[in-house]
Amino acid sequence: MLEISFIPAFKDNYIWLLTRGDRAAVVDPGDAAPVAARLAAGGLRLETILVTHHHADHQGGIAALAAEWHPTVFAPALESITGCTHPLSGGEGLTVLGEACQVLALPGHTLGHIAYRFAGAVFCGDTLFGAGCGRLFEGSPAQMADSLGRLAALPSDTRVYCAHEYTAANLHFAAAVEPENDAIRRRQVVVAVRLRAGQPTVPLDLAEERATNPFLRCDQPAVVAAARRIDPAAADPVAVFAALRQWKNVF
Ligand SMILES: [Zn+2]
Repeated sequence: MLEISFIPAFKDNYIWLLTRGDRAAVVDPGDAAPVAARLAAGGLRLETILVTHHHADHQGGIAALAAEWHPTVFAPALESITGCTHPLSGGEGLTVLGEACQVLALPGHTLGHIAYRFAGAVFCGDTLFGAGCGRLFEGSPAQMADSLGRLAALPSDTRVYCAHEYTAANLHFAAAVEPENDAIRRRQVVVAVRLRAGQPTVPLDLAEERATNPFLRCDQPAVVAAARRIDPAAADPVAVFAALRQWKNVF
């Protein structure tokens, strides 16, 4: 079994640390310094870097870490990633610290975006967030809606490890989309308590996301009605998703 913990970085990034004994892997090391500090403090050896997409806050630390540790660097084949040793495009099966890992292609936030799925855990970068989703910098609404749908269809006991602490702000938007949704209100209370205690709201619970994340609820009548206030022509779930994403961008 892998142990999973987080290394805070920048304002609201989570760099996920996977360990087995003194062997370590990190997901999306945007900054090398906090990773190096954690490795040193834990007496860990960095074997593997997993990268979900090319943005600087996800890959900025690779060069310095690779110079010291010479790890295997798994990263999207479609994107420019410093030090990538194993380009991936989705569908591959990997072994990471002795654990089976499946690569999922999740285009939308960026076109080459991938996720890493282990038994009971998926590292999804900037695709699904707590009660929200990543911005569409490169992909289309149809691509992102499809990617989110594939994450939402994973088994309910899958824990979702996203790369940012955005849950509170996203729930504020979710409550505007669905003011009658009690599950959103209850989650707002729990999230506020956790954040005040300095605790992360990630990993995410998939069942809770399905109940409170408007971007996973584009087939729900209340969400469709809210989206039509932005785009009266929104009919199918992709058009509803596109309207919600547009609204969130200016919320
Ligand atoms: Zn990003």
